Amino acid sequence: MKKLEGKIAVVTGASKGIGASIAKHLAAEGAAVVVNYSSSKEGADRVVAEILSEGGKAITVQANVAKKAEIEHLFAETQQVFGKLDILVNNAGIYEFSPIEDITEEHFHKQFDLNVLGLILTSQQGVKHFGSAGGSIINISSIVSTLAPANSSVYSATKAAVDAVTKSLAKELGSRNIRVNSINPGMVETEGTHTAGITVAKSEGRQQTEAQTPLGRIGQPQDIAPAVVFLASSDSAWITGETLYISGGLR
Ligand code: NAP
Repeated sequence: MKKLEGKIAVVTGASKGIGASIAKHLAAEGAAVVVNYSSSKEGADRVVAEILSEGGKAITVQANVAKKAEIEHLFAETQQVFGKLDILVNNAGIYEFSPIEDITEEHFHKQFDLNVLGLILTSQQGVKHFGSAGGSIINISSIVSTLAPANSSVYSATKAAVDAVTKSLAKELGSRNIRVNSINPGMVETEGTHTAGITVAKSEGRQQTEAQTPLGRIGQPQDIAPAVVFLASSDSAWITGETLYISGGLR
């Protein structure tokens, strides 16, 4: 029997990168997956096609999860197609780097609106759809919540906020058997980090990170996704409020 047979999962920002890998891993363990995206319909369609070709169940739902009305639409669609919700993975997030001199209100609000407010509003809607058996919320935070590298004060602050939200909601929702945990990845090679120039081979940032990482390399999306399956499944039934670092040993 697969670990997540009969479960329904929503993964935000699953058209590419870490989210796409999470969606595929959850589906491989039997969950029916809602692959959310904001603008990359093609990417989301590709993830769903891959899941279906492996015999899994998945649909795409477009929604900007920084916006309450669109978040409501995401869960209304989920409810209509699958009838319930068991697992919510708050993965959608953006990262921008800036020295203090260049920080603008826009830089701040763009990241906080999605990474923090969006995650809170998505959790607020998600818990309404969990049944009496409860559910599992997994927040994709980051190593930067505590490592806090230079030029990342705003992004690092969003992820420190995610860790605090995780701990607070775990206490608030435990009596309803809703577990809330974070996964805090180190540098992972994705479409997003490539576009930002962070993980491009031989870039200074990548080489520095690799040199400081006990396991000597940056991560791949498939280094993260199996831990999401674990936190979504009953294997982690007595784990809540935790932050799990997956970073090759870097702190
Ligand atoms: P990515 O490759 O840039 O992919 C981002 C995903 O989020 C895409 O599917 C994108 O969809 C979606 N998205 C962006 N804005 C959205 C919005 N407003 N509403 C809904 N979906 C939205 O990112 P990634 O590197 O995989 O990162 C994923 C998460 O992991 C983020 O929370 C990030 O902070 C965290 N993280 C990443 C790393 C890393 O090194 N990669 C390390 C630690 C933590 P569209 O393309 O449709 O816009």
